[in-house]
Amino acid sequence: MTPKEMYYEKRGQILVKNLESRHFEAYYCANKEEALKKALELIPEGASVGWGGTMTATAMGLQNAIHAGPYRAMDRDRCATTEEREKLQREMFFADAFITGANALSLDGQMVNIDGTGNRVAPIVYGPGMVIVVAGMNKVEDSLDAAMNRARTVAAPMNKQRFPNQTPCGVTGNCADCKSAESICNQILITRNCRPAGRIKFILIGEDLGF
Ligand code: SF4
Repeated sequence: MTPKEMYYEKRGQILVKNLESRHFEAYYCANKEEALKKALELIPEGASVGWGGTMTATAMGLQNAIHAGPYRAMDRDRCATTEEREKLQREMFFADAFITGANALSLDGQMVNIDGTGNRVAPIVYGPGMVIVVAGMNKVEDSLDAAMNRARTVAAPMNKQRFPNQTPCGVTGNCADCKSAESICNQILITRNCRPAGRIKFILIGEDLGF
């Protein structure tokens, strides 16, 4: 193991315990291949499965595996029109499982997610029977304040580079706490505890993944 892998594993074990103390389910996987296997184990055959934008799940090949497996994939990127996409995003409230990434985690077991339209944070809060969060250990900070800072000043500006419109972070790479109509920072969700117990399941991955 490299020093970084050892560091991630040690912090991963602490985080698993802290997440469990908040009634989340949590698993640590050394790499994205193990993480993919774990995610597919958690989803029952025949389940309807939706997801928000998540680079981590894409790097794992999770969406492709859902399409290829015995599941009903709810893939907004395969919708022909904006109307169909909107409709599918609403239908995801009734999905058996919803897959998402995390913008940041605190070592004490809390998650921060920022959203532009709410289609990702809303199903984390309520709706789908199960939520599976996939997160590289690069997302883990020592405190909730540091996690919030990461989400706002690293994850969001980096994410914004994918979209061609103009916001301060799109131009400079730095967050200016904007009120732009094009802002991707319109909802900020802290998930601090899980009720019902076990509904939200974390798969922590000992690699640098996503933003
Ligand atoms: S500049 Fe605006 S869109 Fe960019 S990260 Fe900051 S609040 Fe979000």
